[in-house]
Amino acid sequence: MAVAPITTQESEAPVRGEATPRRRGRPGTRRTPRGQDGNPHENPPIVTVYFHTDGELHHAWCGQALEFHGTRAGLEIDFFCLYCVEHVTLPNSILSRIPVGPPLV
Ligand SMILES: [Zn+2]
Repeated sequence: MAVAPITTQESEAPVRGEATPRRRGRPGTRRTPRGQDGNPHENPPIVTVYFHTDGELHHAWCGQALEFHGTRAGLEIDFFCLYCVEHVTLPNSILSRIPVGPPLV
């Protein structure tokens, strides 16, 4: 006497929704290099401060000379604007890019 195997609907029907999860790249990874997706390679202009022709560093917002307060870990230089009562920190890496003269409005 032959016996037919017992099958259930679960074993016959293809399982939906249990596909292996799609692998996505790590967060923050890009497919295209920077500069091709809207981010330009050029550095943005320095607009917070400028070197006045008198040799001092001036605050671009008010045009007043900044007061030197010191350096931080050799990486940043701290200034203070007495007119705006505002702390201004500049990274050492941008010193060569600070414009000379009052900013053009
Ligand atoms: Zn100021």
